[in-house]
Amino acid sequence: MPWYRKLHWQIILALLLGLIYGIVAATQGWIDFTANWIAPFGEIFLNLLMLIAIPLILASLVTGIASLADVKKLSRIGGKTIAIYLVTTTIALVIGLTIVNIMEPGSFVPPELREQLEQTYSEEVAEREDIALEAAERGPLQPLVDIVPRNFFNAASDNGNMLQVVFVAMLIGLGLMLIPRKKAQPLIDVFDSLNELVIRLVGMIMLTAPLGVFALIAETITSIAGDQPGQVMELLGALGYYMIAVAIGLGIMVFLVYPVILKIFTPRSVRTFFPGIAPAQFVAFSTSSSGATLPVTMECAEKNLGVSEEVSSFVLPLGATINMDGTALYQAVAAVFIAQTLGIDLSLSAQLSIVLVAVLASIGTAAVPSAGIVMLVIILETVGVPAAGIALILGVDRPLDMLRTMNNITGDAMVACVVAETEGQLNQPSGDRLSKEVLEGVVEDGDGSASVEPEPTSTS
Ligand code: ASP
Repeated sequence: MPWYRKLHWQIILALLLGLIYGIVAATQGWIDFTANWIAPFGEIFLNLLMLIAIPLILASLVTGIASLADVKKLSRIGGKTIAIYLVTTTIALVIGLTIVNIMEPGSFVPPELREQLEQTYSEEVAEREDIALEAAERGPLQPLVDIVPRNFFNAASDNGNMLQVVFVAMLIGLGLMLIPRKKAQPLIDVFDSLNELVIRLVGMIMLTAPLGVFALIAETITSIAGDQPGQVMELLGALGYYMIAVAIGLGIMVFLVYPVILKIFTPRSVRTFFPGIAPAQFVAFSTSSSGATLPVTMECAEKNLGVSEEVSSFVLPLGATINMDGTALYQAVAAVFIAQTLGIDLSLSAQLSIVLVAVLASIGTAAVPSAGIVMLVIILETVGVPAAGIALILGVDRPLDMLRTMNNITGDAMVACVVAETEGQLNQPSGDRLSKEVLEGVVEDGDGSASVEPEPTSTS
């Protein structure tokens, strides 16, 4: 298959074109045209993904859990998954803290810019502070209470509540596992059929991915740059070092830590892993939402990486909602950067408490754009740094959100491969079906022409 017919290349191309168009549009002042005629296509793409995210979590988790042989297997896979998630998030935090302490990006911000940013973003800061304060005032166990919804339909009506839907789905799956099979089967069949339907819909939605990605990137750039591109360049210049620190940390996670873990625990090579997960990475980059990307992450993990449906349908919805390595790393760098800029010296114990709080904060971060910065307020308050300091980084948050979301879903996919391998469920990839569908407009089950190189399962 020629390279340009593969989905991930089409998405990369769309991304680049969106970038170029965005820069031209920002400099030429085509802001209204972009908002009226280009942005809606991105919004439609995002809405479509969001639309199927909740049914997908519900259907895949219920069928995933109900199909497990017994509670013992569920606790084994669940325990393993959560343990690996916690370990990778802690590694991300340690990397983030190390980098920010070595690079000291805070010492590069001129005091005038600091004051200017504090003024510009004072309103937005106040809004986010209120949200975080409300959360913090409700007691230490409130996050736990928040996982359990009082009404399922309320929970399912808000994509920011995915953790609640995960909880309900797990409860239903567990219940179905415990009642007699004969009674459970009809309902399992319903969820199973919903699952199949959603997977098909993902294939159809992905047909529009290149257009959606182009529009999302074009819109992001024009709305960041507004009609004052000069100001953006100035901001990027002063905060560039901070952004580079975050990007280096995320790069180490994605290109070093994950490949090493993959190499140690699975036969999956990076040559299969990265092209396989690429469509999901680009969707994550353009949507800044692990939740919206979940359908694509699952499709890629199953078809291109060979993760069994049983593992993927449990590990990935859980990962999208609780495993956010990129977010945690970013929160660590941002917290210390703000402290450095404000001239606050953070002791070792304060930095260690960042690790602890950020692990919890990243679990509680919703899988939607900009959620990480709200949780950052809580981290700042824990270590005694004024939360108003987020004014310093708000202006450049979007591009970093795009990168950390990409990291978040890559981490989920990597863990899915590891869990699948340890369960003997990492199969031969069946091929980049998404590319085939884009190409041929057909929706048929794996007939072979894999765009991802097949590899022997025992070597890497
Ligand atoms: N946008 C991120 C995600 O969905 C969360 C964050 O803001 O860090 O994974």
